[in-house]
Amino acid sequence: MTKQRKLIKDIVYASYKHPTAEEIFESAKKKMPSIAVGTVYRNLTLLVESGEVRKIDVPNAPSKYDRPQIPHEHLICKNCGAVADVDLVGLLDVLKQKTCEEVIEYKLTMYYVCPKCKNF
Ligand SMILES: [Zn+2]
Ligand SMILES: [Zn+2]
Repeated sequence: MTKQRKLIKDIVYASYKHPTAEEIFESAKKKMPSIAVGTVYRNLTLLVESGEVRKIDVPNAPSKYDRPQIPHEHLICKNCGAVADVDLVGLLDVLKQKTCEEVIEYKLTMYYVCPKCKNF
């Protein structure tokens, strides 16, 4: 793994806020001033392909990145694109029961209006 890729991975793993590529680039620059934004995008793509980093597609906003270790789902605000983590333990078992199949994996994204946007 290149130094750049390790740095990018470390930044994603140290963040609990689902950073965008731009935010990851800003943090990376502090540690490696010579790093280019293209390098960040390229390495993020590779890390997502290898399953080391999870990508969250946000409608009408830049994608966000997350650690894949702890299984959880995402609630995305339709209004501002804020991402909240939701723990849905046991959902895979429910899916297996409902389908009567050995479901291996599922992808779920839920949309809502976040509390901040609701208060406007
Ligand atoms: Zn919102
Ligand atoms: Zn998350």
